[in-house]
Amino acid sequence: MPEIARTGSCLCGGVQFRVAGEPRRVGLCHCKECRKTSGSAFHAYAVWPLQAFEASGITSTYGARSFCPTCGSRVPFVGEEEVEVTIGSLDVAPTEGLVPDYELWIGRRESWLQALPAAHQFEHDRVAVDSAAGNEIDPEPRQEPA
Ligand SMILES: [Zn+2]
Ligand SMILES: [Zn+2]
Repeated sequence: MPEIARTGSCLCGGVQFRVAGEPRRVGLCHCKECRKTSGSAFHAYAVWPLQAFEASGITSTYGARSFCPTCGSRVPFVGEEEVEVTIGSLDVAPTEGLVPDYELWIGRRESWLQALPAAHQFEHDRVAVDSAAGNEIDPEPRQEPA
């Protein structure tokens, strides 16, 4: 069976990218940073390992967010081991098979939005749980003034 690949771009097309295989996780975040940087009520994203990602074009970065300097669209943020892709930057809508596993900063969720029934709900940042051991591991670093 061929591996699934998804393509995406910014609005002007100057930045193009491709992610192969399924993401490690899919999330929704209601935090201040995600609201401010997206200009929207929340941010929906999926995270792939870096080796699954290819891109072309020029990007600018502010903090842990990247964008196209021409059209201002959010584009994937490339970290040291992972890449965070905004779901809305993918070419096909609705996306197939990308359903959030978790929601962050739910205290900031708009009152007209419902909690996703199957998504793990976090008061603040995600705390990854090692399912075998049940231990908390490696919370994702994000600063958020209360
Ligand atoms: Zn652009
Ligand atoms: Zn956030």
